[in-house]
Amino acid sequence: MGDGGAGAGAKGGDSVQLPERAMWWDERVDFQTAFLQQLSKNVPNIYSAEMDPMVEMQEEMVQMKIFDHLEWYLFREDPEVCLEKLQQSGISQLCGKVFKGGETTYSCRDCAIDPTCVLCMDCFQNSIHKNHRYKMHTSTGGGFCDCGDIEAWKAGPLCTNHEPGAASTTKEKSECQLNEELIAQAKKMFPSLIKYLVDMTVWEEHKELPPVLMTREKTDHYYCVLFNDEHHSYDHVIYSLQRALGCELGEAQLHTTAIDKEGRRAVKEGSYVSCQEAKEDIKRHSENVSQRPLHVEVLHADVMAHQKFALRLGSWLNKLMSYSSDFRQIFCQICLEEEAGSEKPCFISMLMLWDAKLHKGARKILHELIFSSFFMEMEYKKLFAVEFVKYYKPLQKEYISDDHDRSISVTALSVQMFTVPTLARHLIEEQHVITIITETLLEVLPEYLDKNDKFNFQGYSQEKLGRVYAVICDLKYILISKPILWTDRLRVRFLEGFQSFLRILTCMQGMEEIQRQIGQHIEVDPDWEAAIAIQMQLKNILLMFQEWCACDKNLLLEAYKECHTAVIRCSTSSHSREKTVLQLCGHTLESIRYRVSVDPVSIHLPLSRTLAGLYVRLGKTGAISRLQEFVHSEQFQVELLVEYPLRCLVLVAQVAAEMWRRNGLSLISQVFYYQDVKCREEMYDKDIIMLQIGASLMDPDLFLLLILQRYELVNAFKKMMPTKDQDLIKQCNILIEEMLQVLIYVVGERYVPGVSNVTKEEITMREIIHLLCIEPMAHSAIAKSLPENENNETGLEKVINKVAVFKKPGVSGHGVYELKDECMKEFNMFFYHYTKTQHSKAEHMQKKRRKQENRDEALPPPPPPEFSPAFSNVVKVLNCDIMMHILRTILQRAVQLETHLWTEAMVQMVFHLLSLGLLEEKQLLEKAPEEEVTFDFYHKASRMGSSALNALNIVMLLEKLKSVPQLEAQKDMINWILQMFDTVKRLREKSSLATAATTSGSETTKGDETQSTQDKEKAERKRKAEAARLHRQKIMAQMSALQRNFIETHKLLYENTQETQGREEVMEEESTPLAIDSSRIALGPKRGPSITEKEVLTCILCQEEQEVRLEGAAMVLSACVQKSTALTQHRGKTLELSGDTLDPLFMDPDMSCGAHTGSCGHVMHAACWQKYFEAIQLNSRQRLHVEQIFDLENGEYLCPLCKSLCNTVIPIVPLQAQKINSEDAEAVAQILCLARWLEIVMARISGYNTKGEKQNVPSSVSKGMGDFTSEFHSILSFGVQPSAKYSNSIKEMLVLFATTVYRVGLKVAPNEADPRIPMMTWSTCAFTIQCIENLLENEGKPLFGSLQNRQHSGLKALVQFAVAQRTTSPQSLIQKHLVRLLAVLLPNLKVEDTPSILDVDMFHILVGAVLSFPSLYWDDTVDLQPSSISSAYNHLYLFHLVTMAHITQILLTSTTESPIAQAQDYSEEAHAAESFCREVCQYTSGCFSRDVPGWHVWDCVKKGITPYLRCAALFFHYMLRVSPPESLLLVSEEEEFKALCSYLSLPTNLFLLFEEYWGTVSPLLQRWCADPAVLSFLKGKNISIRYPRKRNNLIQLPEDYSCLLNQASQFRCPRSFDDEQKHPVLCLFCGAMLCSQNTCCQELVDGEELGACTYHALHCGAGVCMFLKIRECKVVLIEGKTRGCLYPAPYLDEYGETDPGLKRGNPLHLCHERYRKLHLLWQQHCIVEEIARSQETNQIFFGFNWQLL
Ligand SMILES: [Zn+2]
Ligand SMILES: [Zn+2]
Ligand SMILES: [Zn+2]
Ligand SMILES: [Zn+2]
Ligand SMILES: [Zn+2]
Ligand SMILES: [Zn+2]
Ligand SMILES: [Zn+2]
Repeated sequence: MGDGGAGAGAKGGDSVQLPERAMWWDERVDFQTAFLQQLSKNVPNIYSAEMDPMVEMQEEMVQMKIFDHLEWYLFREDPEVCLEKLQQSGISQLCGKVFKGGETTYSCRDCAIDPTCVLCMDCFQNSIHKNHRYKMHTSTGGGFCDCGDIEAWKAGPLCTNHEPGAASTTKEKSECQLNEELIAQAKKMFPSLIKYLVDMTVWEEHKELPPVLMTREKTDHYYCVLFNDEHHSYDHVIYSLQRALGCELGEAQLHTTAIDKEGRRAVKEGSYVSCQEAKEDIKRHSENVSQRPLHVEVLHADVMAHQKFALRLGSWLNKLMSYSSDFRQIFCQICLEEEAGSEKPCFISMLMLWDAKLHKGARKILHELIFSSFFMEMEYKKLFAVEFVKYYKPLQKEYISDDHDRSISVTALSVQMFTVPTLARHLIEEQHVITIITETLLEVLPEYLDKNDKFNFQGYSQEKLGRVYAVICDLKYILISKPILWTDRLRVRFLEGFQSFLRILTCMQGMEEIQRQIGQHIEVDPDWEAAIAIQMQLKNILLMFQEWCACDKNLLLEAYKECHTAVIRCSTSSHSREKTVLQLCGHTLESIRYRVSVDPVSIHLPLSRTLAGLYVRLGKTGAISRLQEFVHSEQFQVELLVEYPLRCLVLVAQVAAEMWRRNGLSLISQVFYYQDVKCREEMYDKDIIMLQIGASLMDPDLFLLLILQRYELVNAFKKMMPTKDQDLIKQCNILIEEMLQVLIYVVGERYVPGVSNVTKEEITMREIIHLLCIEPMAHSAIAKSLPENENNETGLEKVINKVAVFKKPGVSGHGVYELKDECMKEFNMFFYHYTKTQHSKAEHMQKKRRKQENRDEALPPPPPPEFSPAFSNVVKVLNCDIMMHILRTILQRAVQLETHLWTEAMVQMVFHLLSLGLLEEKQLLEKAPEEEVTFDFYHKASRMGSSALNALNIVMLLEKLKSVPQLEAQKDMINWILQMFDTVKRLREKSSLATAATTSGSETTKGDETQSTQDKEKAERKRKAEAARLHRQKIMAQMSALQRNFIETHKLLYENTQETQGREEVMEEESTPLAIDSSRIALGPKRGPSITEKEVLTCILCQEEQEVRLEGAAMVLSACVQKSTALTQHRGKTLELSGDTLDPLFMDPDMSCGAHTGSCGHVMHAACWQKYFEAIQLNSRQRLHVEQIFDLENGEYLCPLCKSLCNTVIPIVPLQAQKINSEDAEAVAQILCLARWLEIVMARISGYNTKGEKQNVPSSVSKGMGDFTSEFHSILSFGVQPSAKYSNSIKEMLVLFATTVYRVGLKVAPNEADPRIPMMTWSTCAFTIQCIENLLENEGKPLFGSLQNRQHSGLKALVQFAVAQRTTSPQSLIQKHLVRLLAVLLPNLKVEDTPSILDVDMFHILVGAVLSFPSLYWDDTVDLQPSSISSAYNHLYLFHLVTMAHITQILLTSTTESPIAQAQDYSEEAHAAESFCREVCQYTSGCFSRDVPGWHVWDCVKKGITPYLRCAALFFHYMLRVSPPESLLLVSEEEEFKALCSYLSLPTNLFLLFEEYWGTVSPLLQRWCADPAVLSFLKGKNISIRYPRKRNNLIQLPEDYSCLLNQASQFRCPRSFDDEQKHPVLCLFCGAMLCSQNTCCQELVDGEELGACTYHALHCGAGVCMFLKIRECKVVLIEGKTRGCLYPAPYLDEYGETDPGLKRGNPLHLCHERYRKLHLLWQQHCIVEEIARSQETNQIFFGFNWQLL
């Protein structure tokens, strides 16, 4: 409160001395007058600069001039002290935190009363629900934390923060009682404050203030104020402002952002006239771009100032409220007081009523004030609710015509009150709230009523109707908790509300009638969405009304009566009363003359369906026995009840029969939703129930006649067929199928409580079983296919484990549920919620399964549950005359082979009905004595149907059908039915009960006599299946040949074969030399032979093979070069964005950025590749409009085989096999020791230097090198050979690739002559090897033999390329580079700017030096290169030198930490280490003196150097192709080290190197250590990299996703200070949290605006980066400015599914395998590839502006 610091003067003061400011008020008797005077004096001054407010100063002033006074007056002592006291004791039990848009809220599915009960992040984290089945959601703003509301939670209503006594010490009383005086003061002050607040808020006079505030001369100071609305876009407003005010874009943007946020803003100040002009201008300009003008007002400056202060006063009060319950109560009391004798509503109602007129900023503050006062006090919340309901109608009407979001409307508060069970009851009982809501609906909807008083939403406004849904939603809220206790009053009020609700349904019953279009197609599809949307909204409300009614038998009967009357009223009022008479099989039906195909029909029948719902509840509760008391049987008119739902079902059938083709798509959509899970419970399902009601109450024959009549199928079942028209016959067949299906449902579908005795769980289980009979499904897919109740629950979790088994997902895909075997028997092929496709899929699946299990393929219905008494008559439909007639007619037609008159589906349905009849009779017979069972299906079916001569009964017909070829597939089913007939017959005859018992159900054991025929059948079936399989195979082959991206499939094959091949290849390669048992040493005189292999490669483009040869045409490998920070030790280091001035010869030891070369391993002829590339170029030029995913300008293309993104090719250069004669080598060893070698090298270098320029290098070089007499040419004396001659085509490719590495690695324009080209070649070679070494280590794989094929061939090509590249550059240039490299090791070379040994990466030096060394053999006259023996020594000595430098480097930097363990053997190495340390100590003049034991030094050195040795082994292996020792093919640390040393000709005690070369090395060591940079490091002035370098990993993510959300909620944008929600994004490389997709954090780079992520990626990942969008739970991969893709986040819910967008909101946990996969994607440099692949498949992302991410 005292945040302005202005109360500071009072510190330590005493209330007698200091209440000066408080006294100031006291001088005036009347607080009100004093207060207003004070305001009128100060407010206009404080808020005078509206255009450019200095917010902080305003705050300070308002605190000092106004609030300090108020606070002192209120507390009569130092407000800070007093508030502190209140704070400690006054923590409320209610949290009441108000949510902002975008904030995450939590609900508990186990404990919340309804899903609207939510917790804020803090409360949730401290609550018991953290471990329950919670849901996460993103708030749209305006909600309120329900922590502490005991009515909202079944358990755990309080978090530990809000638990009484938990937070503050042990105070029993959670509320601090204010003292009398303070209460008196508050009571005195609050009324004036509130009155002022309300008065100013609702003040409508723009030019004048209320007289009491007008104390000074009125100035001509006005503002032109622009208001926010939802009709104008950002751009519209900016445009209008720019035009009207002539302001800059920036200013206009500023205004617009402020308007959007605050709701209003002064855009111009000045005289009244000028503001008025501006207003007109803005209106005019905005009208030009949009339909309506912007809302602009001209306000007097003082009015503006007071209104602003009024809101500030609001937030002051808001804060005060949080301190004490007494304050809240006083405040609420005053707000609720009505002025005596005045008509005006109380203050709070005034504010509510004014809400829609207020701007956004004002509304927010007032709503928060309501939250912090009324909603924190239960008693006052109730009183507020009463006021709210009192003005409900006008408020909703205002809201509907308002254009602001619901979240900032006062009407949105309804959910806070209506969902509280006690409040809801109170409001229903005392305030008629149900009636009020429904009446409101009736009052806002009339504009949609047609002349028949039915709704018709043609031409509706979606936006406006969307607002009406809010009212419907309120109805849901008020009904969401069913009352447990019913009072008479509640009953009466509820029934009143129900009646009122029926009036709405009456307007819907039969609305939007349609009529079949004949001849012409309809011109425009009518609007159908609105009506369907309302149906969806109403679904759960209708169900809730029915549930409420069912709480109480009397109520239910009353409600049924009301509803019945309404239905009958609707049914009799319309259409013809004309009757027709129909006769069939001796039964006569008289019915209304009506045809669905001709007369109007409607799909909307909510009244009928509610009635059906109430009827089954009557059945369930048993109240049905008293139904006669309420509805007389003559009033019942069951035919009328059935009529409309039946018409609707017939409509569906006719649509299926394509009779309504000309009515367009809208009808198809309506029919779809009618049966869809979102609507079916209150549409389709209820219509079926209504037919069941009809079937149970009507004479069965008449019922069926009515059905035949309505389906217009009477003639189809008379003897003669009326037509020969094929189309009509087809139509008729579909209609018959549809009708049979409905009949199956009427008698077979009993899974409704009330229809039979089933529980909700059983129903859900059955739904799930049938879904899983189609295929195994993911949790979310099942959930989506089940209806949700009002709490958004499907009941899925309760039962799923009873019927299904969960199968976990792999690293991709999702977990699925598979049906348990024992549930398969529940499968009903004609399950009424199956769509046509689901039906056939399920049938197919189940038949396949049975075939696999070697069982018959009959799929009879499972025995249905018994009908409840109210519905028991339904089964009579099965054995009535008309049914028999129908069944027999169809079978007869099948037997007589009248092919066009029947279909297989039709016959299947007849079988199903027969099965149902037989099952029913069997069940009855098993339960009761034979003579009591009157259901005589068997008897009827085995009776002759007509007197005709050739008449057959059904059993006979079935026997005949067995030989009908078209019914081959149904044979098993026919057999099953015949057996059932037999079973029932035996039961009837009571002959052999024992046999009958075993021959039950679907699992029939077959008699011996049938066995042989069945075997034959089986064999035949097998043969057919085999033929079908072959046929399928053929088709598949043809199809895949045609498949457009058949390469994709091809690629998979390729990769699979490759992996195995690759391994073989490696093994083979390593094992051949083993036979010769040659040396496995790569360096020095004992060097082993190269693996010589004839390389024959196949070009993926022309498929021709070619051997790789020096002089041949070049073969190339597709490759991708990219900058990489994968190895950086210094993440976030600012990288040079362009390498124009960069010197890449030395790699910084922090490895902050390198150039990585990767390859997909696919080989092409250089010529073929060039042709291919040109072809793409041409292609893209022809289709300019198509955006390319790859950048041709920069050489990008997709690998023609695997579609990986590539940007260059590596030439494949054959290895120059070298072999050493060991005798010669040994001989050379005698003379060529390191010292001698160095001498020769120095001589050569100085020789060049003297030759080239007149530098006085020699003298300095010779210094310290002892005897120096070598001659310039002596280097040649140990053996030379002519240089390799490459073909032109290879040379060309060498240049091409080298230039790409240079261009991409440095981000510069290509320049073939740049001296840095060779440096980049060495650099990418070294860097790529380091990356691979790192990856192998990370994956725990051995150094050799485990590389993927693509890595292997890429590396081979890269190293050989690097060897050959030298020949395409001027040798003098290479020499220059070499000298600079050597200068690091040989300080005597004295080259300027040579870095110290601590400032370079030694492996890069090694690679550069080895590759450039042959240039020393070059001379103007001859082109020579070292012989094998010379090379062997060169490599050996270079390597040893670099290694010693590296050991020194490690010693200096990485041995500082004291050892943890003590006991270590005193080994030889330790001894050597100690003495070496002493030397180093000496050379650094004591700067290096580590008091660490020798063994520890050795340990550090060994650990530190291993990565380097591993890289070196890889490098020399790929360069020289000498086989490595066996143990490098294994993973074992100790073995590995030995093997490495042996392969690289090193002693395992590395310090021996120094001993061996001491004479030569000690002067070098001395100079290395004396380098100023080294000394300054040792003195602690610089820091340096430690070895081994750390391996980079993606950042650690929390296990629980809500922790991340928690982090995100604390995130504040570093650039802007408002509390608007941002899009926090987490960099997975470095853990930085960024403010994405927001203008505040954009950066300007090279004249382009980059979003925070894109900008961050430039430095963090050299353009390639991986982010986690926290609120959306999605990973984003980006590359550069233009490319990116989304990737599923590595978080899974317990069902193994990801939740992008947090749509489902289930708890999510980190999946380590998936996160690991992301890690590898990064370390393998495959992010770019992944992006390209994803962009290829999801073309949608082209539109996305990745740059601004
Ligand atoms: Zn909370
Ligand atoms: Zn809490
Ligand atoms: Zn819970
Ligand atoms: Zn080719
Ligand atoms: Zn490829
Ligand atoms: Zn980062
Ligand atoms: Zn920002």
